Amino acid sequence: MNLQDALEQKCAHCRKKLIDNPPVGCFYEVQVSQNIFNPQKTSESLGLAMIFGGNAKMADVFSPHYGMETELSKNSFILCQDCYMMKDVAIPLCQEYAGKDKEVLEESKT
Ligand SMILES: [Zn+2]
Repeated sequence: MNLQDALEQKCAHCRKKLIDNPPVGCFYEVQVSQNIFNPQKTSESLGLAMIFGGNAKMADVFSPHYGMETELSKNSFILCQDCYMMKDVAIPLCQEYAGKDKEVLEESKT
């Protein structure tokens, strides 16, 4: 993140500008990815695990669906040090605020 972006960036939780939040220059980027298992592939792998006597690791190795989880979304948001270290943070709300902030920043640049 360059200085111009840091000047415009807000904490996704407290909504304060990063540069106004002491200690200046310390913030955290939290990356969140949402994953889901495909029910049909999961059932097939669990059936294979039963063949191997309940050994899920063996089923994973021999399953045609190895690594079957699917990444639905991946995004990130910024937290100031106070929010990261001292406050209870609701991750879904931070993601929503961060998404709106990105839209506003992109509109202001165009
Ligand atoms: Zn904050």
